[in-house]
Amino acid sequence: MAQKIIIAIDGFSSCGKSTLAKELAAVLGYNYIDSGAMYRAITLYFLRNAVDVNDSGKILDALANIHLSFVFNEKTQKSDIYLNEENVEHMIRDMIVAEKVSEVAAIKEVRAFAVGQQKRMGKKKGIVMDGRDIGTVVFPDAELKIFMTADPEVRVKRRFTELYATNPNITLEEVKHNLEMRDYIDSNRAESPLRQADDAIVLNNSSLTREEQLEKVLEWVKDRTAVTA
Ligand code: C5P
Repeated sequence: MAQKIIIAIDGFSSCGKSTLAKELAAVLGYNYIDSGAMYRAITLYFLRNAVDVNDSGKILDALANIHLSFVFNEKTQKSDIYLNEENVEHMIRDMIVAEKVSEVAAIKEVRAFAVGQQKRMGKKKGIVMDGRDIGTVVFPDAELKIFMTADPEVRVKRRFTELYATNPNITLEEVKHNLEMRDYIDSNRAESPLRQADDAIVLNNSSLTREEQLEKVLEWVKDRTAVTA
């Protein structure tokens, strides 16, 4: 039997990381963890409770009251995130959360809270996790690290199509601005900024179909899980 590995996928917003991660997990029988959903759920809690992001005491109090868990959803074939036992999978995709998430994710205490949980999730391997610091901070020893990129226009269009399905009032300009803002904050923050791990493979999927992309990555997985007798 092939050995189980950790697959870390990082990259800018809306490069298709979660699509690839979800497909890989399904084919390999691995767990898929969307680390961005954790930062989004924490942000939702902060917004609901008007947590002052400049007060580390208030931040720590808030984090002590946050319990995050993932529950597999048979319908979507992906885990939904629960914030204190409430399914917030849809709510966290809202623009209100997207506008604030990068600011919250840049907070040292928030990162320590999320990264600690993410590291524990990888203990048994057999996991695909996507995010911004997975190959650099969460799983620096991951057997396969992928850094995804896609042309900016492709990313904006993809994200717009996704959001438009539930919010027909959204504009292309709004989506573009949000992606640019998040990429800027994520890349320039002091705490584990988004960067490509030295040993990551770059995957630009601007002109790849989902099938082509999956096939390519499965080859990389095969190389790393081959059992030598
Ligand atoms: O992946 P997604 O776009 O849902 O992530 C939302 C935000 O969460 C990112 O823009 C980033 O600010 C933050 N994030 C992070 N580290 C991760 C995953 C997400 O800082 N590992």
